[in-house]
Amino acid sequence: SNIPKIVILGAGYGGVLTALRLQKQLNYNEADVTLVNKHDYHYITTHLHMPAAGTDNPENARVSISKLIDEFKIDFVKSTVVQIRPQDKKVILEDGTLSYDYLVIGLGGEPETFGIPGLLENAMNIRSINSVRLIREHIEYQFARFKREPHRTDYLTFVVGGAGFTGIEFIGELADRIPELCREFDVDPNMVKIYNVEAGPSALPGFDPELVEYAMNVLTKKGVTFKIGTAIKSCSQDGVVVQKGEEPAEEIRSQTVIWSGGVRGNRLIEEAGFETMRGRVKIDDNLRAPGSDHVYIVGDNSLMFNEDGRPYPPTAQIAMQQGVVCAHNLVASIRNQPLKKFVFSNKGTVASLGKGEAVGIAFGKKYKGRVAAWLKKVIDIRYLFIIGGLPLVFRKGKFL
Ligand code: FAD
Repeated sequence: SNIPKIVILGAGYGGVLTALRLQKQLNYNEADVTLVNKHDYHYITTHLHMPAAGTDNPENARVSISKLIDEFKIDFVKSTVVQIRPQDKKVILEDGTLSYDYLVIGLGGEPETFGIPGLLENAMNIRSINSVRLIREHIEYQFARFKREPHRTDYLTFVVGGAGFTGIEFIGELADRIPELCREFDVDPNMVKIYNVEAGPSALPGFDPELVEYAMNVLTKKGVTFKIGTAIKSCSQDGVVVQKGEEPAEEIRSQTVIWSGGVRGNRLIEEAGFETMRGRVKIDDNLRAPGSDHVYIVGDNSLMFNEDGRPYPPTAQIAMQQGVVCAHNLVASIRNQPLKKFVFSNKGTVASLGKGEAVGIAFGKKYKGRVAAWLKKVIDIRYLFIIGGLPLVFRKGKFL
């Protein structure tokens, strides 16, 4: 048939918003839309730090895709993309091939380890439902092991690499979880060590310095030891070697290293021949890959610059806004109408620091403590409402 085919790769923030908007805006038989995702659920990535630390159930961080999209309007294919072939306008899946007229790439990022030896092999990442289940079980297991081998303090030493939003939010939850685990396993809380190692000169780089200080104070009181301006030099089965400037290197023996120090684009994109910077494609104002009018890239795989020429950090917020404009531009292309330019509207940022504590900037104002924690809940609930309406808010929303 002559109906244009739109294929969306990835049901993350960018992909789901694109699909939802297309489903609303396209007329009957105006286009065939296919959404491909590795799992039959969408994960609420911004919640993953909680189930990773064990302070929430992983079920609350995922939503079945069939509950989000109208399968009369959008074909959902549960499969893994193995290759993108822009020259042939085809996508190779592990179990088949799809051809497209328009492609949307929203496959999300991958951990960037900057070539630090052993990090890829020995550290865990907060990335997906599967990866956070592993982290949660692993942490509990270390407590159980310690009871059998009480000389092994490395079982009770936890290292988080990176003090960006993910690292800070995770460590806040972990610090909340530790006292619970200590009670459960009869472990003296003074035996437990939590380190945050950050190579840059500050935690939460680029964030308001007063809020950064507040965040570090809250977390230090909860038992976190910060090592800022300190690089992880290597990682092994025994822990990490870290070094601050020219000081002698130091070994932290630990059985649990969580790496949240960097994100890069999905490797499939550079393998497809697109020009990338750390795996991300510098897209045009309309969200298309340069020289490829039919390929849109949204979310963590796209690279866009603000007026000062600095790249926007990859966030759920920008991915969602891109999804909306991407759907608009796909519909406009099909109808031969002019495309819209993407303009990021920053609604603010809030980082949680565990129960009842957070820091954030919203509506041009600074917030900390309970008010910021409450703001974080509002943002989370707003997202559930956008993708799944009130039913999803009531099923997955956390009000307390
Ligand atoms: P993703 O949401 O990463 O989704 C990609 C999808 O593609 C996934 O469903 C994946 O399964 C699928 N996929 C990947 N590879 C394949 C393949 N080969 N085949 C098929 N499917 C595939 N951002 C904020 O704005 N605010 C926050 O508070 C915030 N907190 C965060 C907390 C944590 C713990 C983390 C990890 C991230 C946080 N972020 C936050 C960042 C935000 O989650 C990401 O920027 C956002 O998820 C990017 O969306 P995306 O659409 O690019 O892809």
